This record gives sequence, C-alpha cells and structure tokens, in this order.
Amino acid sequence: MSNVLPTYPRSNLTFEYGQGSYLYESSGDQYLDFGSGIAVNSLGYGNEYLNEKLMEQANKLWHVSNVYQIPEQERLAKRLCENCFADYVFFCNSGAESIEAAIKIARRYFYITEDSKQKNEIITFSGSFHGRTLGALAAGGSDKLEGFNTEMPGFKQLKFGDHDALKKSISDKTAAILVEPIQGEGGVSSLPKECLEGLRRLCDDNNILLIFDEVQCGFYRSGKMFAYQWSGVEPDIMTTAKAIANGFPLGATMTSKKIGDVMGHGTHGSTYGGNPLAVAVGNAVLDLMQKDNFRSNLEKVSTYLIEGLREISLKYPKSISEIRGKGLILGLKCYKDNITFVEELRKQKMLSIKAGNNVVRLLPPLTVSINECDEALKKIENVCSLGF
Ligand SMILES: *Cc1c(COP(=O)(O)O)cnc(C)c1O
Repeated sequence: MSNVLPTYPRSNLTFEYGQGSYLYESSGDQYLDFGSGIAVNSLGYGNEYLNEKLMEQANKLWHVSNVYQIPEQERLAKRLCENCFADYVFFCNSGAESIEAAIKIARRYFYITEDSKQKNEIITFSGSFHGRTLGALAAGGSDKLEGFNTEMPGFKQLKFGDHDALKKSISDKTAAILVEPIQGEGGVSSLPKECLEGLRRLCDDNNILLIFDEVQCGFYRSGKMFAYQWSGVEPDIMTTAKAIANGFPLGATMTSKKIGDVMGHGTHGSTYGGNPLAVAVGNAVLDLMQKDNFRSNLEKVSTYLIEGLREISLKYPKSISEIRGKGLILGLKCYKDNITFVEELRKQKMLSIKAGNNVVRLLPPLTVSINECDEALKKIENVCSLGF
C-alpha cells in the first residue's frame, strides 16, 4: 500500500530527470512532454540559467519571514506591475491561495469603502476551475463541496455564456465576477474580446470588481504575458501561479492601488509566500521570458503547431472535431473519448492532459522547437490513424 493519500489517479510512469521538452524514466525511455506539469514548466526542464539562480540563492539564504525586507520580492513585484495593470502584488505559494487572496481583497474592498457586510457575493461560471481550498472550490461550483459538510455562502455560479442569467443575477450583494480569460481545466474555452468588454462594462455600471484568474493562462501561455492583454480589457484583481517560477511553488495576486490599499497590516499573510528562493526563481523566469527571442520563437512555434493540428483535424474529423485555444494552450476536442486519446498518446511516448468537454489539452513548454512540434504532430496523427 502507498502511504500517500490516494487523491490522484496516478499512471505508472516514474520520471527521473528532464531536459528541455523531454522527461526521462530511469530506463532511459524518453517522453515528449506536452503537459509541462500542467502549464508549470513553461521554460522546460533542466534550464541552466534557472538552476544557477536557484543555487545562487540557496547558497545565500532560503527563507526569512515576511516581517523583514526581501529585496528580490520587491524587485519581482515591481517588474510584474510594470508589465500589467497592477500596482500591488501579494505573494503566496499556489493558485488556490492566490484565489483566496483575491476573494478576501474583493470583499474587504466593499467592507471598507462602503461599510458593507453584505456586498460579498462572487459570481463565477460553469466549467471554471479555481483550485482546491474551500473558498476556491466554492468558486468552482458548489457541487465540488459535496462531502465536505459545508455550504459556502457568498458564491453564485452561472452557466458559461448565459448573458441573461448574468444580468439577472447582479444585485446589491454582488462584489465581484471571477473568470478565467481562457478556461484551462474546463476544456480550453476562450472568452471572446466582446465578452470581456461586456463583463467590464457590467462591472463598471454596477460597482462590481472584475477578477481574472490567469493561474493557467498567464505568463505567456496564450502568447501574451497575460491572456487578458489580447483584449485590452483590464481586471481589478488578477490571480497567477503555475508558470510564474517554472515549478518552484509561487503564486501572486495582483491588484490596483485603489483596491489594494484596503489590505492593511495583518489583513492577510503567508509564512512562505514570496520567500527568497521562490522570488529568485521568479525573477530568473522573467529574465528569460522577456528576451525578444523567447517571444518570437513562441509566436512562430504556436502558429506552426496550430496549423499542423488543423490539418490533422481536417484529415481525421472522426478523431478531432475542433482545435481550440491560443498561443500554446491548445485543446483537441475529441470525437471519441479524450481519456483514451491521452492514453494512446502516452503509448506513443508523448504526454498530454485531459480537460473538460472531451478535450485533450496540449501545454508544451513555451520553448518547444519546430522539430519537437513535428514529432508531436506525427504522434497525434498516429493516434488518429489508429482510429481513436
Ligand atoms: C491550477 C489552477 C488553479 C489552482 O492552482 P493550485 O496551484 O493547484 O492551487 C486555479 N485556477 C486555475 C485557472 C488553474 O488552472
């Protein structure tokens, strides 16, 4: 028996090390990784620069409390704010924690500015995923709380795309609307620009905050640093994590000055959040992602991969009925069963990830090459030609 709580259905694969876009078993077997630890290892494995920066910090100082100055944390916060709408960053350790902070900030904003205890409701949408803490689960839909013996007031989930239901649900209790600009777990569904604009208008007209969950689609996964930047619509609060430190646990909730100013001393905190090791890696990740050749490679490879996938879907419509997504967060909508498709790809020594809506998610490292895309396309075509 395993002593690890059986919360994950694990495959038998055991990886010993990784290099670039590949993971290796101790037997030497090589897997092309189009999952990237679920959109985490965006700069691939074994990156020398990241290793160097991590070791450099490890040799100096692993951890100090957030009651002291942490210069690398200040630097990362500044760099993040220079690249998005935000003025403040709260550092934590995971996506779910970044959601918890967003919920707390939104509610406290109205508590402080309007002295309102009842303006606390967060509206979310079906197909969304925001993490596994109680608050994040409640945001993801109350059915997910079943068995945990609690009802979490202050959340309302609506059907994705139901504009009328949304308008009717707005009341003087509504504090925020929380959405992923591109749903990851839900099946790689993008919110069109017009929808984001509509949400922004609705929020402005009704004094409601708009929260974007970019835990999965942020940090260039969509081709831009943050997915919302495709639309020009800015949120009031944004959550991020996953690729922010390429696998070193780190999350960040960002907000404007006006809203963040309600979070005074003691209103929130985290022992580890943004500790020296995490932010050293976070800064190193940004160093690499802000190089021109990183972005130009990403654009080139993404266009190439999407084109190749389209061709396969046209040739095998009884396998892949639609290509979804943007940048390198891509979804193959399966005609048959997505879980079988993922398993068959694994037999071809390629890793992918299932998502909702019968979708297979492709999340290669953002540093993936054209040759590796060719290899992936060949493996995907093999699976289609086998009739899956
Ligand atoms: C993964 C994910 C989360 C939760 O992140 P954890 O680090 O697992 O807590 C939240 N929101 C989205 C969109 C995610 O993809």
